[in-house]
Amino acid sequence: MDLNLTPEQLAFRADLRGWLADNLAPDWDGDRYRGPTDDGENFSLQHAWERRLHEGGYSGLHWPTAYGGRGKGIVEYFILMEELGRVAAPEGINSIGRELVGPVILDAGTEEQKQRFVPRIIAAEDIWCQGFSEPNSGSDLASVQTFARRDGEDWVINGQKVWTSYAQFSNWCILLCRTDRSQPKHKGMTLFLVPTDQQGLDVRSLRQITGRQEFNELFLTDMRVPDSLRLGPVNEGWQVANRVLAFERGTTRLYRQARFAHELNALARLVLDGAGNPMAEKVRILGRLHARLEILRLHNLRIVSRIASGQAIGPEASLQKLSWSTLHQEIMADAGELLGEAFLEHPAAERFRETYLQARAETIYAGTSEIQRSIIADRVLNLPRARKEAN
Ligand SMILES: Cc1cc2nc3c(=O)[nH]c(=O)nc-3n(C[C@H](O)[C@H](O)[C@H](O)COP(=O)(O)OP(=O)(O)OC[C@H]3O[C@@H](n4cnc5c(N)ncnc54)[C@H](O)[C@@H]3O)c2cc1C
Repeated sequence: MDLNLTPEQLAFRADLRGWLADNLAPDWDGDRYRGPTDDGENFSLQHAWERRLHEGGYSGLHWPTAYGGRGKGIVEYFILMEELGRVAAPEGINSIGRELVGPVILDAGTEEQKQRFVPRIIAAEDIWCQGFSEPNSGSDLASVQTFARRDGEDWVINGQKVWTSYAQFSNWCILLCRTDRSQPKHKGMTLFLVPTDQQGLDVRSLRQITGRQEFNELFLTDMRVPDSLRLGPVNEGWQVANRVLAFERGTTRLYRQARFAHELNALARLVLDGAGNPMAEKVRILGRLHARLEILRLHNLRIVSRIASGQAIGPEASLQKLSWSTLHQEIMADAGELLGEAFLEHPAAERFRETYLQARAETIYAGTSEIQRSIIADRVLNLPRARKEAN
């Protein structure tokens, strides 16, 4: 792994910094992790930012030019992620489209699907959501019950999904369905690309602990989808879904390390200004968090380096997901310890109060920490499965 950037990559970073200084929306408050609390206002602001990134030539950066991408490498993409995190830019409303659906369509889609969907994701014209989880299928995703029945050239879908982030703003959904109940549960599933304004699909929003309304329930009743919207082979949805999850765990949110560093710097400024506990203790905690963030950056670089050398993202992606999600919770818990009462009262600590709550979700979505640890134990470390208690 070569950690040095080429002169071209350094120039790319410098240009990007200049572009961000000129283009980051003046009404964007990077201190607010999620933007305005009004969901509609937040949506407009985030979507406008995604369009601006596209106009600036920074969307679809490492995707093929044949589908509207910029044809750059994964290292340039990583630089982009770091720089976006460094200025705490908006995360955007279509991260599922950009970070999951686009890569999976490029990987498993037909030529027609690539031509149809990828340019529109790059241009932020379509917004995607991910319909995997169900009321009785979260960690055990292979138990999904939403059923798609073949009917001539169409599929007819019935079932229910839950926790579908941003479905109320999306016009497309990547949907995991069972297509053959007679097969073992890891087989007999198929993925579909479905329009959310289709008859037979009802989207109902759920309000969460932060007061925001970011996820939804989907109710599917006799929804008809043409076979041309099937993604990947019939009954092999589990393999394709796992590629979605590997992207989700390994390469999405690569900006997080830099973004957390932005938060840690803000925390350090507040803490060293005098709020909270004695100074030596504060410096010790801040130093530990800084070191942990540097380790997270090395995790990121390892994944980027694997992709740059043509290797697939394997179960090691779980290390990535486990690292960033648990570290973020640790930073927020330490923010509370460092600031003491100021955590609850100081106006400048508001961002930490909201992020503390938001971070609770991070060890759940994209697979819980328990599931990541099981994958690491089983498939990375090849540890023996838990032995039965001796009689
Ligand atoms: C903010 C947020 C956004 C989300 N967005 C989406 C989305 O857009 N699309 C989507 O499809 N889903 C989404 N999800 C759902 C998410 O993927 C699931 O919540 C997650 O997979 C866990 O499933 P569950 O909630 O059903 O919990 P369960 O699977 O019921 O788990 C409950 C608890 O049991 C533990 N557990 C379960 N099985 C095991 C096991 N085998 N070994 C050890 N422990 C185990 C879990 O770790 C957890 O602590 C989102 C979730 C959140 C919080």
